[in-house]
This record gives sequence, C-alpha cells and structure tokens, in this order.
Amino acid sequence: PHYRSVALVIGVTGIVGNSLAEILPLSDTPGGPWKVYGVARRPRPSWNADHPIHYIQCDVTDPDQTRDELSKLTDVTHIFYVTWSDRPTELENCDVNGRMLRNVLEAVVPHAPNLQHICLQTGRKHYVGPFELFGKVPPHEPPYHEDLPRLDVPNFYYTQEDILMEEVKKKEGLTWSVHRPGVIFGFSPYSLMNIISGISVYAAICKHEGKPLKFPGTRAGWDSYWDVSDADLIAEHQIWTAVDPYAKNEAFNCSNGDVFKWKHLWKVLAEQFVVEFEEFEGDGDAPRPGLVELMKDKGEVWDQIVREKGLVPTKLEDVGCWWFVDAMLSYGSNLDTMNKSKEHGFLGFRNTKTSFVSWIDRMRAYKIVP
Ligand code: NDP
Repeated sequence: PHYRSVALVIGVTGIVGNSLAEILPLSDTPGGPWKVYGVARRPRPSWNADHPIHYIQCDVTDPDQTRDELSKLTDVTHIFYVTWSDRPTELENCDVNGRMLRNVLEAVVPHAPNLQHICLQTGRKHYVGPFELFGKVPPHEPPYHEDLPRLDVPNFYYTQEDILMEEVKKKEGLTWSVHRPGVIFGFSPYSLMNIISGISVYAAICKHEGKPLKFPGTRAGWDSYWDVSDADLIAEHQIWTAVDPYAKNEAFNCSNGDVFKWKHLWKVLAEQFVVEFEEFEGDGDAPRPGLVELMKDKGEVWDQIVREKGLVPTKLEDVGCWWFVDAMLSYGSNLDTMNKSKEHGFLGFRNTKTSFVSWIDRMRAYKIVP
C-alpha cells in the first residue's frame, strides 16, 4: 500500500500509546494512510495485538540497542514520544528521561530524511512541579496556561523540552509540539499511572469482599472541580499537531474541556461495579488509610478474582498503581485552560462522564477487570 505518513510511537502499549496504535491506522485519520511503528520493552501483549502496527521490542534507555533498532527505520515522518521512566528522585528522572529522549532522537533524526515533526507528551506537572515536591513548592495559580514561566525546581519535563529544542535544530524544517495533559483516562494495564485501572480494580476488590466503596482521598479531592484528559483525545490532539501547519513549534495543554467532581464519578463507579456507594465523611484532613495501605495485602485476593472471573492475568502492582490514585484523589482543584489549542484550531473535547464509563467498559471488554 502507499502510505502518506509513517509514525514511530515510543511507548506504544502505554495509556496514550495504545490509543495512537488504534487511531493512527484508521482509514479516516488525518494525514493518512499511516504506517505505524510502535516501540516498548516487553513482548507485545494480547490487548495490543489487534492494531495493525509494526511492533518493535527495544529499551530506549540503552543507546546501542536504540541505535540498532531505530536507525534503520528510514521512512519515519513523525515521532510520537509517549513514554517515561520513574526513578526515586526528580534529578534521576531528569537524567534517565533526558537520555531516553536523546537516544531516540539521535537514532532517528539523522537517518530519516523525510522526518517532519516530533510530538513530545509531558504533562500538567509542568505547572505544579514534580511529585516529590508536591506541597513543598508554590505551584502556579490555576487555571494553567501555556505561557506561564517554569518553576525554579528540577523537572524532567523541562529537561525533555530542552533536549527536544536542541535536536530539532539539527534538521532543517523539522517541527515539534509539546502536549501537556492532566490526569489521563485511558486503557492500558502496562501504564505506570492509570487511574481508571486503579479505581476499577479497587472497586472490584470491594465488591468481592462485600465492602462499601470508600473514597480513599481527601475532602478537597471529593468536593473540588476537576478536569482530566481522555487518551483518545490526546491522540487526536497529537495527530492534529502532526498535520496542521498552524500547530507547529508550540506547547499545548490538552484536556477534555469540561469539569466534574469526584463525588459524582464515584457514584458512577459504584454503579458500574454494583458496589455500595459511600458518602465522604468528615473534613478529610485527619490521617486516613489510602489505597497503598488498604490494598497492601490484596495480591492474592486479586489473583483469586482473576481466576474466578477468567480475566487476563495481571499483577495487582501493575494494574493498581495505588500511590498515584492516593496522590490524585487527595488533590484539590488544578484546572488548565484549552484556549490556546482552540485559538490554534483544535476544537476536540470529551464529555468526562461518558469518557469515564467508556474506559471502564473497554477494560471490561478486554477482560482486565470483571
Ligand atoms: P505509560 O506509563 O502509560 O506508558 C509507557 C509506555 O512506554 C509503555 O508502552 C511502556 O511499555 C513503554 N516504555 C517504558 N519504558 C520504556 C523503555 N525504557 N523503552 C521503551 N519503551 C518503554 O506512559 P504515559 O502516557 O503515562 O506517560 C507519558 C508522559 O505522560 C509522561 O511524561 C507522564 O508523566 C505524562 N503524563 C501521564 C499521565 C497519566 O495519567 N498517565 C498524566 C499526565 C501526564 P514497557 O513497560 O513494556 O516498556
């Protein structure tokens, strides 16, 4: 077949990578028909195998392997960088995530003569600082817009942007975009941070044990206005920057364009898993057991649910990501604005409640949760 564009997706089994792997090959995707290469370390999982892409197993922290595997992809026209690595400190995150991006760009930029555009996905921590400094540095005042200055703290997103700017200079006409989603609603049992998977597994465990669905966050998390980013919407946003000349060389927020409160979605979650809804009680400032604590001995319970319900085998540590769920559900209002994307021509949006239910349905359809 004759392809108009050739994508290289780094992190193709991740929460946005899996959406890109599904959407890019569709016949009506802008810029298409697309040929798609997708990279991740582990063997290709069953839930990713339906997407018509070329799967490449490669660890991009390793420069030699990255050069061997990626420099031969001479037909690549667009890079979608949707991966990261989590280390104990932000300085280590800057180091490893910087090296990963550089390894990929050094392997591809000089060898792909038709390379046109690079999408880098970072996130809203651009405006609030890294996890380890939450509550310790004054964040910007929400709603966050793209022109806010960097905070004066280490942040691997800043390191990655700087490396991106250096590398694009090496090829005339090569363009870039940076995408800054908030918490992502999507499908991927291999994601380091998947709140849909985390709270669905938690709800399934509550159901199995006959317990009500207690909210593991704070009063602020329960009551505040929130916004999130649908993984398919982020994929559409990245594809928009890849093909639209007005979307080049800019950083853009990327969120659904509506607000919600967890107390409302929590009711929906309870309905979805047919478990008793519980109102949040108290001011929520008192110490509470979060999911890290509540779920710490539930590995065997999860294995039993997986067996009884005939689910795809997963480890609780992989589908739970409790630290992330606890941190997010304790957070108050942290909104961004989509004005810049709209002003540049991207009018995409999602209804967050519909998005929430559709991702739970998807996890269920692929037998990740009961
Ligand atoms: P995920 O954690 O969902 O997916 C990561 C993907 O990269 C997987 O396919 C993984 O597969 C692959 N991968 C990981 N390490 C390597 C490696 N060394 N070499 C090759 N492939 C690798 O990614 P996200 O989309 O969550 O993260 C991308 C960016 O988005 C990050 O900067 C993150 O901070 C940001 N973000 C994420 C949010 C979220 O809710 N998830 C919210 C806002 C921002 P495998 O493990 O098999 O290699």
